Amino acid sequence: MPKTLFISDLHLAESHPRTTDAFLRFTRDIAPSADALYILGDLFEYWVGDDSLDLPFHHTIIDALASIAANGTALFFMHGNRDFLLGQAFCDACHGILLADPTLIDLYGNPTLLMHGDTLCTDDVEYMNFRAMVRDQSWQAHFLAKTLQERQTIVQELRDKSEEATKAKPMEITDVAAPTVEATLQRFGYPRLIHGHTHRPATHIHWVDGHACQRWVLTDWYEDRSGYLEVTPNGWSARSLD
Ligand code: MN
Repeated sequence: MPKTLFISDLHLAESHPRTTDAFLRFTRDIAPSADALYILGDLFEYWVGDDSLDLPFHHTIIDALASIAANGTALFFMHGNRDFLLGQAFCDACHGILLADPTLIDLYGNPTLLMHGDTLCTDDVEYMNFRAMVRDQSWQAHFLAKTLQERQTIVQELRDKSEEATKAKPMEITDVAAPTVEATLQRFGYPRLIHGHTHRPATHIHWVDGHACQRWVLTDWYEDRSGYLEVTPNGWSARSLD
């Protein structure tokens, strides 16, 4: 039976060894039986540039991914809001393909739109402004010109600030905005939507112009929490690792 898997928001980092273990278990025991694995953003807690490929921790993750690809599972990546500097060198090392956000695919006959999810959170104006800044080509060129050490320090400061800011925001501000979801579904011809980012795994239905569009939100991975979405021609299921 053909099978496609989706994961996102693992936030892999040396400081989260349990999640790293879960991910390595997933790549060894679960992913090899799939035809394709889509990683829809925030695989890493942060990524400051492909010149960090050679760090031992990154090697461990890349080796695990490359072995899935060598085993015949097609590997696709999308940028998240934390690892948007993952580049071609990373994808080449894993034998994966970087997808644009959004990307429309055909999933066993169902048009399915893939996104990270942060661009749907349009009520969070502060975040949307920050996103526009860091996705700017000249900002990125300036950032990447700094040493690895300097970049890691900057990212640490940004993360501390963003954690504080997110805590201070009401829940509905940091979730997707329904009108943005619905406009996106309309623009792409009323597909099904799969995304992560919000850490609010669920299935929703959006009625758009008389079409019932499903929206599947992937789980994040943290401590004991880990999971993936499995889709076959017969249906879908959200599964946890254990
Ligand atoms: Mn995210």
